[in-house]
Amino acid sequence: MSNGQHLIVLSGPAGSGKDTVVQYLVEHHPEVEVSVSMTTRDKRPGEREGVNYYYISTEEFERRIAAGEALEYTNYCGNYYGTPKSEVDSRIEKGINVILIIEVEGAANIKRLYPDAKLVFVRPPSFEELEKRLRGRKTESEEKIRERLARALEEMEYACDYDYVIIKDKVEQCAEELYQIICEPK
Ligand code: 5GP
Repeated sequence: MSNGQHLIVLSGPAGSGKDTVVQYLVEHHPEVEVSVSMTTRDKRPGEREGVNYYYISTEEFERRIAAGEALEYTNYCGNYYGTPKSEVDSRIEKGINVILIIEVEGAANIKRLYPDAKLVFVRPPSFEELEKRLRGRKTESEEKIRERLARALEEMEYACDYDYVIIKDKVEQCAEELYQIICEPK
C-alpha cells in the first residue's frame, strides 16, 4: 500500500473558504484532483450531486460503512460525512495527487492510514471574518450557524497537529501556496 505521498488533506472550519481555494487550484492546475465525499446533509442551493458531494440517506450511508466502502467517516453537526474508498484508491495507485477536504477527525484518521499524507490547515484571517462568511451564506438556520461557530472554535485548536497551516486571505495566493505544498517532495 502507498504511504500516501499523493494525498493532501485540507481542513479548516466551515466558512474558512477552503472550498473556494481548492476550486481555484484545480482550475489552474487540473492535474490535481478532488475527492468527492458522501454525506447525509441536505443539498444547498447551487450544489451538485457528484460534484460537491454524493447526497445519500442515513440508511445508505450506514450500509456503505458496513460494506467497508468508507475510507473514513464522521458525524459533523448531526450529519454523516465520509470519503468513499473509490475516490482515493485508484488515484493513488496511478500517482495522481488527490485532495480530501475533510474535518479534523477525518484528517487524523487519514494520517493513521497514510503516514505520508500532507495535512494542511486553512485558517480564516480572524474569527469575526469567519462569522461574517457563515452568516453571509444565508443557507443555515441561526441554530446551525451557532453550532458551526462553536465547532469552528474547537477545530482551530487542531491547527498545531497539521504539517502546514495557511491563512486564507486572498484566494489566488492561498491556492498557490497550497500548490507549492503539493509539489514539494515528501
Ligand atoms: P459542509 O456541510 O460545510 O459542506 O461540511 C462540513 C464539514 O464536513 C467540513 O469541515 C468539511 O470539510 C467536512 N467534510 C466534508 N466531507 C467530509 C468527509 O468525507 N469526511 C470528513 N471527515 N469530513 C468531511
